[in-house]
Amino acid sequence: MHCVTIPLWIPAAALGVSSTLLWRRHWGRRRGVCPACNYALTGLAPGSPCPECGKRGSDAVKT
Ligand SMILES: [Zn+2]
Repeated sequence: MHCVTIPLWIPAAALGVSSTLLWRRHWGRRRGVCPACNYALTGLAPGSPCPECGKRGSDAVKT
């Protein structure tokens, strides 16, 4: 009888993907950092568009 084994890369990949998503969300919710490209917006007025990618409203990010 052959034992059913779960390939180790499956939970590893799931953990990696979820942690990466959490990490991106964490950074996206940081004030002063562009949610799209993580460009540092320090020194800019709150809500002003990102000079790097043009995305605006870092304070308007919901959830
Ligand atoms: Zn940006």
